[in-house]
Amino acid sequence: KHAAKIRLDDVKGEQSREKDKADRATSEQVLDQRTRMILLQMINRGFVSEVHGAISTGKEANVYGAVAYPDLDGPPIQRAIKVYKTAILSFKDRERYITGEHRFKSGAEKGNSRKMVKLWAEKEFRNLRRIHSAGIKCPEPIQLKLHVLVMELLGDRKGYAYPRLRDAAISSEDAEEVWRSLYIQLLGIMRRMYQVCRLVHADLSEYNILYNDRQLYIIDVSQSVEHDHPRSLEFLRMDIKNTGDFFRREGVETLSDRTVFDFITA
Ligand code: ADP
Ligand code: MN
Repeated sequence: KHAAKIRLDDVKGEQSREKDKADRATSEQVLDQRTRMILLQMINRGFVSEVHGAISTGKEANVYGAVAYPDLDGPPIQRAIKVYKTAILSFKDRERYITGEHRFKSGAEKGNSRKMVKLWAEKEFRNLRRIHSAGIKCPEPIQLKLHVLVMELLGDRKGYAYPRLRDAAISSEDAEEVWRSLYIQLLGIMRRMYQVCRLVHADLSEYNILYNDRQLYIIDVSQSVEHDHPRSLEFLRMDIKNTGDFFRREGVETLSDRTVFDFITA
């Protein structure tokens, strides 16, 4: 079938273990045995063909670029793989999102970090599916296995990911108008997410929105909550404040947070 190879050094776990200490300084990025097995399985099943370098390394997850060749002679499809880390620390402050989620009742998950990361990946997958099918621009979820999530890459055909809204270079002479329209676009997205998906993002900011060609894309929805979550309105107010502050700093004459809240929830 297709040449299925893993290019990523990280995936060659055994070899990297042999490498010198300088390399081990980056061991944060080395994938563990279980993760490598999952990636190999996904390669065998054709969801991805090659795993590339890290697009992002964060506290709770790493995101890697990847390519799939669905048809032998067809063009490659760019994908992104989010690998949740089994670090217990960062999951402490995540509890407030899970507590009160009727979709994730089982308290048995508490304290078991492997189950916790699986839960986060599952949440992100389901939320992405819901947001994507509501017609909101976000990565299309492709495949989920334990703590490894394959999704559409938001980027160009060469595999370069779109910038975060924070880093977007909007410098045309009509920049002011573009910023204004992006603000309005985001209000529509937030409203649709609330009204149609019945979700509150709960970590919405210029860091979790990607930008390309006057389009906004929503990412990072593992902590998003149902709107009947006891704290969903508190999270919504926070999302409104963070995004409103950002657009105000960019010089947009925004609506008041209160007005936006009423617009989204009405
Ligand atoms: P976290 O913030 O928890 O580390 P994110 O889901 O926000 O995880 O992903 C981290 C970064 O990886 C994002 O800021 C974005 O730059 C990049 N990224 C994540 N998903 C995609 C995607 N589907 N396409 C392109 N880039 C992505
Ligand atoms: Mn993020």
